[in-house]
Amino acid sequence: MNVVGGDGLMESGALDLVVGVDLGGTNTSVGVVDDSGKLLLQSKFPTRPRESAAGFVARLAAVIHEMTRRLAPGATLRGIGIASPAANGLRGTIESPANLGWGTVNIIAMVRQHFSLPVAITNDANAALLGEQMFGIARGMKNVIMLTLGTGLGAGIAVDGKILQGENGAAGEFGHMTLDPQGRVCGCGRRGCVETYVSASGLRRTVLDLLAERLDESPLRSISFNDLTAETVSRLAKDGDALALEALTITGRHLGRLVADLAAAFDPEAVVLYGGLVNAGEFLVGPARQAFEQHAMKIHRGNVRMLVSSLNNGEAAVLGAGCLVRDLLTGVEAA
Ligand SMILES: [Zn+2]
Repeated sequence: MNVVGGDGLMESGALDLVVGVDLGGTNTSVGVVDDSGKLLLQSKFPTRPRESAAGFVARLAAVIHEMTRRLAPGATLRGIGIASPAANGLRGTIESPANLGWGTVNIIAMVRQHFSLPVAITNDANAALLGEQMFGIARGMKNVIMLTLGTGLGAGIAVDGKILQGENGAAGEFGHMTLDPQGRVCGCGRRGCVETYVSASGLRRTVLDLLAERLDESPLRSISFNDLTAETVSRLAKDGDALALEALTITGRHLGRLVADLAAAFDPEAVVLYGGLVNAGEFLVGPARQAFEQHAMKIHRGNVRMLVSSLNNGEAAVLGAGCLVRDLLTGVEAA
C-alpha cells in the first residue's frame, strides 16, 4: 500500500477532513481532502477489472484505514465521496460499468459495511466538474461543461449553477452521441459513437486508420496496437512526426465540432477539457478551437472558452468526490 503525503497534517491542524475516491477503469485514486481543497494524503492502486466489487471495496477500505492511522491527533474523517463511471448518484449504485464485470452494485451500502460514515457517489465526470468549480479553472462558473477525455469520453454539465442529473442520473453521455452511423463499433453495442473517435482509445484507432491509408514512415509503424498509448502519440507529435500530428488534428477537429453542438444545446460560458488525452495540449486543443469557430452558431463564436483543467491530472475527481460528501454533510442537495 502506497500512501503519500501527510507531512502537512500536523502543522495544518486540519480537523475537518473527508475522503475522495476516483474509481477508474484502470486505477483508483484516493485522497484525504481538507476544507480548502488541499489533498493531504494520496494513494493510487490498480482497479483489477476481473476482481469482484466486494474484493475491490475490501482493498479500498484497507487504504482508507491506513490513511486514518496517519491523521494528526484530533483529526477525524467525516465522510467518503466516490466518483465512478456508470454511477447513479440518485440510487447510490454503480450500474454495469463497461470496464468492470460487476453488474449493478450498491456501492454505498458496501462501503458502509467498513465505515460508519456518510458515503456519497456520483459519476466521475460530475465529480471532476464539482472539483473544477470549487478549486480549479471553472471556479464560480454557473454554466459550464466538463469533458473528460480518457479511455472513454464523459461529461458533467452545470446549468444555471446546478449539475444536470437527468431521470436516471445518466445525463451527459455525449460520448455515445452518434458521429457516424456507419462508423466504429462502440463498447455500448452501437456504431459511430463520439467516444470511439474523441478519447484516448479513439485516438489509437485513428492512428491505426492513418497507418493503413498512408505510406509515410513513422515510428508509430513499429509500435503494436496494444502498446500504443495517447502519451506516445503526443510525444511523437512534439517530435514533429507527421502521422502523430495528423491523428491529433483529426481528433481535435471532431472534438471542436462536438463542443459546437454542445454550445448549441447548453449555451455554456466555458467547456473544460480534462483527462489523459488533454496532455497533448495545443496539438489537440488548437484544431479543436479552429473547428469550433467554424461550426459553432454565430452567438457562440469567439464567446465560449475552451479551457484545459488547471488541476493535476486525476485530482479533480478526487476533490469533487470530497466536495460531494461535504455537501451531503451540510445538507446541500448532493449532485
Ligand atoms: Zn457508444
